[in-house]
Parts: sequence; C-alpha cells; structure tokens
Amino acid sequence: MNQVDYLRISLIDRCNYRCQYCMPEGTELDYILQKELLTKTELLNLITKVFIPLGFTKFRLTGGEPLLRPDVVEIVKEIAAYPQTEDLALTTNAYFLEEKAQALYTAGLRRINISLDSLDPTIFNTIIGNRGQDRWAKTWRGIQTAHQIGFDPLKLNVVVIPGVNEHEIEDLAALTIDKQWHIRYIEFMPIGNSELFQARAWVPSEEIRERIRKRWGLLESEVKGNGPADIFKIPGAKGTLGFISQMSECFCDRCNRVRLSADGWLRPCLLNETGQIDLKTALRSGVSFPQLQQQVRELLNIKAEINFKLRDKGTQTGLYTRTMSQIGG
Ligand code: SAM
Ligand code: SF4
Repeated sequence: MNQVDYLRISLIDRCNYRCQYCMPEGTELDYILQKELLTKTELLNLITKVFIPLGFTKFRLTGGEPLLRPDVVEIVKEIAAYPQTEDLALTTNAYFLEEKAQALYTAGLRRINISLDSLDPTIFNTIIGNRGQDRWAKTWRGIQTAHQIGFDPLKLNVVVIPGVNEHEIEDLAALTIDKQWHIRYIEFMPIGNSELFQARAWVPSEEIRERIRKRWGLLESEVKGNGPADIFKIPGAKGTLGFISQMSECFCDRCNRVRLSADGWLRPCLLNETGQIDLKTALRSGVSFPQLQQQVRELLNIKAEINFKLRDKGTQTGLYTRTMSQIGG
C-alpha cells in the first residue's frame, strides 16, 4: 500500500469567486461559522502532534480561497520551519497574490498552484461567476508577480469545460514554451455542480493530449511528479504539461493524501465521504493527542479499502454533499 504522507489543508471554505464548476451561483452554501474554523493554534497542533508523528511530510494549503485567511502567512511560516516538512505548497485563485506573494515567499513558501481557466478576460469572468471584468487582469498580475519573485514550480491549473474554455487548450499549453511554467489540465468532476456537469460533461485527458500532439508533438517528461498528474512536454518547451485524470483513470492505488477541512474533518478520499473523523470536536472536547493519533492511524489503515470500494458509488449516485471549496480541492 502507498505511504500516505500528504495532507491537504483547507484553510477556509469561503471564496471571492464563484467558479461554475466549484461553487455555482444559486447553490446554497452553508459556510462554516468563524467559531467552527480550526484556529491557527489548533491546526498547527494537529500537524505537529498528530500528522507529523504519523509520518506526514507534505502539506498543501488550499480552500476555498486560502489567501482570504488573515493568518495565512503566519501558518506558512510555521509549517515551512518544521524540520520534517519536505514539501509545502499553496493553491490559490491569485486574486490577492500580487499583494501577498512576497510575504509568502519570505515566510518560506516556494511552490504555488494558481487556477487559470482562460486567457480571455470575458470567458474568465463568466467561469468565475461574473465577479468583475477586472478579475482576469488582477489574477494575471498575481501570476506575473509570483513568477518574478521566483516561485518554482509555478503551476497553472485548468479545468477544461466543454463548450466554455475547451477551445483554449492549445493557447494555454503554449504558455509553457517560453516560460518554465507548468500547466495542469484537471478533468472536470461532478462535485457540487450537477447542472453544469450534466449539461456539459467532461473532456478526457487523452483527448486534450491528442490535440496538443497534433499541433506540436508531445513527449513524456523525464520529470515525474509526486502526485496523480501524468507529466508531458511540448518538444523544446521550458515548462511541462500535467494531466490529472481522475474521471478517465482510477489512480486510487497511487493515492498518498488525505484532506483536512477548514472545520477540522479529516477525509480519507476526495470521491466519497466514508470514514471521516471530526478532529476539531474531539480536540475541543479534550481528547488527547495520542488518542487523536490513534484515530487517524486507524483511518489510514482502512483508506485503501475506502478508495477502491466506494469510488464509483460516489461518482454514480452523486453522493457528494460538499463542494470542492468545502472539501479543500
Ligand atoms: N481557490 C483556490 C483555487 O481555485 O485555486 C483553491 C481551492 S480550489 C477548490 C482547488 C482546485 O480545485 C482548483 O484548481 C480548481 O480548479 C479545482 N476544482 C474545483 N472544482 C472542481 C471540479 N468540479 N472539477 C475539477 N476540479 C475542480
Ligand atoms: Fe473559489 Fe477556487 Fe472554487 Fe474557484 S475553484 S470558486 S477560486 S475555491
């Protein structure tokens, strides 16, 4: 069985965008109340007294939009300083990155993933739920700032939605030719977006690769990631192209991660909700750290079973009751 050593941490479930595929407009979202969010101290205690002793060394901060969390820089600084931390990354929509990139870098963050689903400001604005025509430019400035400061790797996440941004697959891939950026095409998943998903369905990674292959050719990259992405590159390009194919391919046997929601639920699998543990309530009711460690250890022991046996059930029955922003994508 794969060693599970990667914790994805949702810092907050709220977001300043309402992406059509993530938290579509019109969906009622029960935002977590402030008092139910894990505090910085609770989160750091869980990391140092539960997860690190269990062998976790890789951490990703996500959300919702993690840069909405006022203490994000302090959290980065603490986690980056632990000697056991081998890898710390952050996923953001980049709206606040222009202002925050330098502080995050100084705090020790080096790896960043930014969602960029379109190079066209109007399409971008439609995808993010019409938050304002200026949003693309601000996101782009955030990306440029991160690039200038030296974040490496700088990865751009693209969810390909048929009929919306599908025609930009090649234009987005072309960004990797001159810059050492990494574009990652994520297959669109039916989580919290049933109307859009049923109307448009998804584009398989192989179809995206075929289009890129036709234009430039495509090589398998010698660099292998430590996650589920299959990595390729356009011949001669500085950057790479990653494909995350959770719909067309089952990579459960390679899964090395669990997810901690902003209100402290530990979730063993993205695609179903079995086995979750409410770490925050346990912590606040005085359960000791060794006992919490034991609960998490037991969950890790049954994780493989949960992944394999329940994956399809979740996808077929629309079992998901939380959106990606709530789970921490
Ligand atoms: N707000 C940040 C952002 O957008 O980068 C971080 C949180 S977001 C939930 C993390 C990632 O999940 C993003 O790259 C987003 O594109 C992806 N995502 C959200 N909903 C998705 C869906 N239904 N299918 C595939 N990817 C999705
Ligand atoms: Fe917000 Fe990220 Fe979800 Fe878009 S994908 S609504 S930016 S959390």
